[in-house]
Amino acid sequence: MSPTPFYFNLDSYLDDAALTIAVKALAASYPHFVKLHAIGQSHCGRTVWLLEITNWATGDERVKSGYYIDANIHAEEICGTSVALYTASYLVSEYDRDSLVTRLMNEQIFYIVPRVNPDGAEIVQTVAFYEWIGNGRYLPSQQQSGPGLHYTDINGDRMILDMRICDPGGEWKVSEKDPRLMVPRTPDESGGLYYRIVPEGLLVDWDGGDFVIPRPRDGNLNRNYPSNWVPESQQYGSGEHPLSEPEIGAVVRWILDHPNIAGMQCYHSHSGVILRPWLTFPDSHFLGEDKLLYQMIGEMGAAETGYPVISVFEDFTPDKSLKRYGSSIDWSFGALGIPTFSTELWDVFRAAGIQRDDYYPLRSFPESDWLKLLRWQDEALGGDGFMQWTPFEHPQLGPVEIGGWQRMFTFRNPPPARYLEEMALRNCRFTLRHAGSAPRLVLRSCTATALSDGLWQVTAVVENTGFLPTNLSAQAVAMHAAKPVSVELSGPLQMNFVQGPACVEVGHLAGRMQRHTSYSRFYDLPPAAQAVSWVVRLPLREAATLTVRAGCPRAGAVVAKVEIDSEGRDLSIG
Ligand SMILES: [Zn+2]
Repeated sequence: MSPTPFYFNLDSYLDDAALTIAVKALAASYPHFVKLHAIGQSHCGRTVWLLEITNWATGDERVKSGYYIDANIHAEEICGTSVALYTASYLVSEYDRDSLVTRLMNEQIFYIVPRVNPDGAEIVQTVAFYEWIGNGRYLPSQQQSGPGLHYTDINGDRMILDMRICDPGGEWKVSEKDPRLMVPRTPDESGGLYYRIVPEGLLVDWDGGDFVIPRPRDGNLNRNYPSNWVPESQQYGSGEHPLSEPEIGAVVRWILDHPNIAGMQCYHSHSGVILRPWLTFPDSHFLGEDKLLYQMIGEMGAAETGYPVISVFEDFTPDKSLKRYGSSIDWSFGALGIPTFSTELWDVFRAAGIQRDDYYPLRSFPESDWLKLLRWQDEALGGDGFMQWTPFEHPQLGPVEIGGWQRMFTFRNPPPARYLEEMALRNCRFTLRHAGSAPRLVLRSCTATALSDGLWQVTAVVENTGFLPTNLSAQAVAMHAAKPVSVELSGPLQMNFVQGPACVEVGHLAGRMQRHTSYSRFYDLPPAAQAVSWVVRLPLREAATLTVRAGCPRAGAVVAKVEIDSEGRDLSIG
């Protein structure tokens, strides 16, 4: 493990107070690397924090390519906050120790939002461990309206678990292999002791019929982005309108205000996979070499984390009629063309030694897999991952038992002490390697040649030595979201341009990604370097400094100077 100094504890998770202390401590300890911004306020008035991290001595975002990280948009997925903070801490503490970190800190700038959803994260950690909550508009017991079963912590243990209710018509029975485990009753079975299993809660206006569980109105912040947005009637949790939620408004505003962002990672926690676009289209929707881009960068992710890299639509959407609309990565890649990954950090099944072929399990698992999960939580959580069935006198239903999976620290997040640091390090490494794939401008040469008295030809060659092209993706070009590379010459006030405007747009420069094959007569290798020339008139017998600046928001900017002495000699070396 790295000797990274943490400003938070990797043995536990952070509530809002601990997160606030951690980000302030990081900024206070590394003022030359870290600026802390409050970019927005949640429904309940909590701060959405953003850490802006770079070596400020080597420039700011006007000259640096940017990389954006966020986490914990879904309230329960609190391990993402720890991984994002770890990455921030790693950047500042590994500077001058890790060559990739040093290069990235000198050449790029990082924007890290460790917690997009501070209200939701607080509710799930302080009100009730709970499987799903929105962003603080409603507490768990207020999320549903209308007749039916409302999720409620009825026994006051700060968890909303399951209730099992004896019922001769029940679908479940107790496993013979472990009395905690409930297994399905076989199709032909009768004469035993059977149960219904429903969420822990209270009945509102119950008419005695079957339990109705009204759909919660808690929202899903990751359906509130302005690409492919559809209303609630078509997409659960999408909100009143795109960007109706203040937390999403805040992060979208930041991203739009920083056109230098060249890569993004959005941390989630559920399945141990690295997700890539699209969410609403098959892979045939990719333009140009964009799928290759995801494959080649994704291979580094698979190598660092062991997670597969998959398309949300192709591999993570079992029912293609239930697409996920209005999500962050369909917006950041679809509208802005920014290569974006969304890593689901935790896979409880892998931890328990369960092999599976599907990435998004909707099927019922065999009893043997559930037994493995039970054994895993006995060992990793001392049995606290599955709460024993405990009799409870329900005020409406009479005797029931409350128990079952405590999902926050089993399915949704790892038990931190054992898993968090390794998870953070592996994912931090992938994210930094993704950042290291950004386009990278250099001025390969810059010369001035005397044509006649006072007349000079200045020539600069600008090159992209990065993996990605300066436009990042074909999608960015299609969306008109990629500003081209421009090269500008400036000099003394008396300098006149005889030929060429001061600022020349050279279009986009290819990345190494586009030169993955050697020369072929069937494939034109797009150029990564471009020469630009100007003819200028300078005052006779006066020394002058000419400055060439090449820049592209997503690829950064570079400057070269040409010194001409009073004898009219170019003193620069190409
Ligand atoms: Zn999520």
